Amino acid sequence: MSHVLQRSSASLPVAVGGDGCYLVDATGKRYLDASGGAAVSCLGHGHPRIVAAIQAQVASLAYAHTGFFTNEPMERLADLLIADAPAGLDKVYFVSGGSEASEAALKLARQYFVEIGEPQRRHFIARRQSYHGNTLGALAVGGNEWRRRQFAPLLIETHHIAPCYAYRDRRDDESEEAYGRRVADELEAKILELGPETVIGFIAEPVVGATAGALTAVPGYFKRIREICDRYGVLLILDEVMCGMGRTGTLHASEQEGVAPDIMMIAKGLGGGYQPIGAMLASAKVIAAIEAGSGAFQHGHTYLGHATACAAALAVQQTIREERLLDAVRARGQDLAQALDERFGNHAHIGDIRGRGLFMGLELVEDRATKRPFDPALKLHARIKAEAMARGLMCYPMGGTIDGRQGDHVLLAPPYIITPEEIGELADKLGAAVDAAFAGLP
Ligand code: PLP
Repeated sequence: MSHVLQRSSASLPVAVGGDGCYLVDATGKRYLDASGGAAVSCLGHGHPRIVAAIQAQVASLAYAHTGFFTNEPMERLADLLIADAPAGLDKVYFVSGGSEASEAALKLARQYFVEIGEPQRRHFIARRQSYHGNTLGALAVGGNEWRRRQFAPLLIETHHIAPCYAYRDRRDDESEEAYGRRVADELEAKILELGPETVIGFIAEPVVGATAGALTAVPGYFKRIREICDRYGVLLILDEVMCGMGRTGTLHASEQEGVAPDIMMIAKGLGGGYQPIGAMLASAKVIAAIEAGSGAFQHGHTYLGHATACAAALAVQQTIREERLLDAVRARGQDLAQALDERFGNHAHIGDIRGRGLFMGLELVEDRATKRPFDPALKLHARIKAEAMARGLMCYPMGGTIDGRQGDHVLLAPPYIITPEEIGELADKLGAAVDAAFAGLP
């Protein structure tokens, strides 16, 4: 019996290796990694350049506490990230993952208003169909009801508005533009309800990952959100932990929305899973206020700016740039969208195929016309995961009730190095797994 506290009671295969887009278990079985774990492994597994960078860093300096020293990989990584950051962002704070990045963002935003003499600002507004991490602060702003429920008394009060979910919420007589304006305007209504002088920030994923299966906003939605934030002096905090670092075909997903945030979180694709690392990027405006005030951000973790983690992420980011992998994401993204369309475009139970770049989602419905979801008790997402694993395919199905809505979807986020042949294999195996899952329903 394992002494590891696992996330589920199911017994899992033992992963022992990986190369390229495949993971290998202890029996030698190979799994095509069509989800990069949870949208993490952007360069696949066993990449020699990243392995060499980590080995070299460990041999010279594995770790030095950043309260005493800076270190070269951290400085170089920060320079690289800021050179390519959205307009106005000019400082990076390194942490060990996405939830820590969210915590840092929430605290920095609050401290900013304290420093500029607006301590009455204490509210965060977020969207119901969202995930920002599992620590208490990140969980509080997330909209994932089943994750929050039992911890609710411990969570800071957060206010939620509707997500931008055109597939489900756009009315038939409404243009995409009108729908985007309607849902964005919920932010203004919420700010006015709370009192603009009390609101710190609005937090959102530009492309919603885990809770909605690569859900993109309609054109113009985020521009209007930016305008509303500016009108009331509210900070725009964009969570690019999952959708960022090239996943959607541009380095930052927000580039395609034409907006720049005041604070941004990145993680998964930053280090590609070779080391645990995340980061918060902050605007000059926010940092200048703190530097002119108390002088320092009141935060910190032991592994902040970990030299080996930064060396791994630096090598991942250099590889993405030097091997022009954003071009590959765009090209293979088109291949993937086409393969999914061919395999699932007329499928009776696939209601929506969506996403951007190598970040794609399928929404499963019992009835395409009414968009009625499957009964959550059937655990369709878990059945698909099991059928996919049996066929040597890793994908990321999710289900349950989120924002009062039931539903199952499958998220795909393969490595940026995936080949057209591997995309064919992905579509074939996923098609077989989905059909087998439906065939097994009572
Ligand atoms: N934010 C988003 C958008 C995420 O998808 C996740 C993880 O899935 C997180 C934050 C939390 O990241 P981590 O699991 O590294 O703490």
